[in-house]
Amino acid sequence: MASVLRVAELFGPTLQGEGPSLGRHAAFVRLSGCNLACSWCDTPWTWQWRVYDRAAEQTAMPVDAVRDWARGRADLVVITGGEPLLQAGPVAELVAGLAGTAVEIETNGTVAPPPELLVEHVAFNVSPKLAGAGGPEHRRLRERALRALADSGRARFKFVVADAAELDEVARVQAAHGLDDVWIMPEATSAGRLLELLRDLADPVIERGWNLAPRLQVLLWEDARGR
Ligand code: SF4
Repeated sequence: MASVLRVAELFGPTLQGEGPSLGRHAAFVRLSGCNLACSWCDTPWTWQWRVYDRAAEQTAMPVDAVRDWARGRADLVVITGGEPLLQAGPVAELVAGLAGTAVEIETNGTVAPPPELLVEHVAFNVSPKLAGAGGPEHRRLRERALRALADSGRARFKFVVADAAELDEVARVQAAHGLDDVWIMPEATSAGRLLELLRDLADPVIERGWNLAPRLQVLLWEDARGR
């Protein structure tokens, strides 16, 4: 029987809004389900089943159908969630079917990727969650998974911060888990707040030798779904 992915939405072509590929022409595969419950989550319809109707928000799709939708749609395919590595097996099948296309997997860094995903055309955008996201640290920051991602040489680490004071916590997490290639992104759902935070964060981020990126989708479309 064909493997199945639990899909929240397929959208694009659009633009990758975050991280090192900011602005790239991209197609998005957003998967359902998450193992965290961040207080500021901007995609709660992928997992918050007490609020959202799972039957309406989640579709079971054969991997082949998702592959056929994504193939040729854009130069970059972004697999996001929710937490896509909760479906690592079918995700690996999807990635294998997209050989020759650049793929970014956006993960919260709590699940170690299987070897089938450590391949040439795949990069991981890892977003470890800080205390402000809520929930106990042992659930948010898992040493084995972060180590596996860091050691893969295919990961960049994106931290969403609400203010400059949170940069000290990012530095502690970076040092504790040996993370390279750190990116800071503002937590904001409006263009005005995003720009305000970017200006607050720019100098301290430069001083620490990190990278700073906006969330392009917020600047362009604020909190619209499917963009
Ligand atoms: S890890 Fe991501 S999808 Fe899951 S609750 Fe946190 S912000 Fe939302």
